[in-house]
Amino acid sequence: MSSPTSESGVAFDTDDETELILESLDGFIEQEIEPLEAEYEDILTNPRTGHEEDGLLTDEYLDVIETVRKKSADAGFYAMNMPEDVGGSDVSYVTWYRAITHVFANGRGLNQHVLAGPEGPKPLLLLGDEDQRAEYVEPVVRGEKSTAFAQTEPTAGSDSPAMQTTAERDGDEWVLNGQKQWITNAPYADFAQVFARTSSRDEAGRYGGITCFIVESDEWELGSLNNTPAEIGQQAELRFDDVRLPADRVLGDVGQAFYEAMDFLSIGRLELGAQAVGLAEYVLERATEYAREREAFGQQIGNFQQISSKVARGRAKQYAADSAGLRCAWKLDRDESVVEDISIFNWFATQTYWDAADSAVQIHGGNGLSEEYGFMDHLNYARLLRIVEGTDELQLNTIAKQNGLLE
Ligand SMILES: Cc1cc2nc3c(=O)[nH]c(=O)nc-3n(C[C@H](O)[C@H](O)[C@H](O)COP(=O)(O)OP(=O)(O)OC[C@H]3O[C@@H](n4cnc5c(N)ncnc54)[C@H](O)[C@@H]3O)c2cc1C
Repeated sequence: MSSPTSESGVAFDTDDETELILESLDGFIEQEIEPLEAEYEDILTNPRTGHEEDGLLTDEYLDVIETVRKKSADAGFYAMNMPEDVGGSDVSYVTWYRAITHVFANGRGLNQHVLAGPEGPKPLLLLGDEDQRAEYVEPVVRGEKSTAFAQTEPTAGSDSPAMQTTAERDGDEWVLNGQKQWITNAPYADFAQVFARTSSRDEAGRYGGITCFIVESDEWELGSLNNTPAEIGQQAELRFDDVRLPADRVLGDVGQAFYEAMDFLSIGRLELGAQAVGLAEYVLERATEYAREREAFGQQIGNFQQISSKVARGRAKQYAADSAGLRCAWKLDRDESVVEDISIFNWFATQTYWDAADSAVQIHGGNGLSEEYGFMDHLNYARLLRIVEGTDELQLNTIAKQNGLLE
């Protein structure tokens, strides 16, 4: 990624390129996304019409998501964080962070598919050689294919090196056996980045001996869906039963995948924290508008101190979370270590969104609980963000360890 320059050390002004991108994103959402949201309102707002009986997204819903992804890729937004040699624009982390917060400040409609998420290109894929980049990475950057990151297993989540999935070398091939769960986009992905043990912990140590393989969708068996109220039909189990993979499906170096993935962990945490910051802004803005309009006991409810203070406290936290996110992005652009910063940011930003969504429900009273207003969806999604990219406890452990505790 290119690095923004600042002569005075710290700069809080946005450079012209970022400002232009944010303006163009607004235009894109208004012209391309909002009409689609109006056209497909029913499938987007009603889980019962957007999903098949088994919970999978309907073909119509998938088509709309793919249309958004493709239009965004064609307009140069979708994977603008990727390097130019795979079709991206190599924007800085600050620009990518600001783009995510900006897009998610519109809520959780189709806008959430404008910028690459877990189904899109991740820096880990850049470990691919020239052939892998042409076959797997570039089509994902163009929005033509989608992928999944498959690490978690039924008995290995936070403690991912405890994984049981194995791949054994057999001549020119690898034989993959095991099971993953909670894999986002698993039902719809064209291929997945699957982590497997290729040497035992005794031989290679706790973090060694793990290799990443590119596995295509016709090579796995799709297991049960892992549904949550906020993301029905998006996560699922993957099963591998003696899957034979050619040697050129190894992504990166044999036995090094855990270390290689660790290098990119911060970026996933930055991205989900940025979503939380944008969404906190969205729910707080809606709650503020409602507090101005809704009347009780002959006055705006916003005049009641217990209501106005929920908005004020939420706004203060959202401001602080955004500042922390920008600082992490700025440090990433300067190749500085962000191990503690990113855990502080991810933990604080997701807590901030959780508190803001809870306040928005409360400020809306009974309407806050209704499907129509959608705030319970935010509460569910905020809860999810506190688990997915490292749980609250794991983020706090990292902060404690960075301060010499929990050795
Ligand atoms: C919606 C969703 C999407 C997901 N997408 C993906 C995906 O695309 N790819 C993928 O590989 N995985 C994915 N995951 C899995 C996710 O990364 C794990 O759920 C997460 O890492 C936690 O693991 P776990 O669920 O096994 O919980 P566990 O690790 O079993 O943790 C259970 C509880 O124990 C606590 N705990 C564990 N260890 C410690 C410790 N050392 N100190 C203190 N407390 C601890 C945890 O914080 C938690 O509260 C997804 C999960 C969800 C819910």
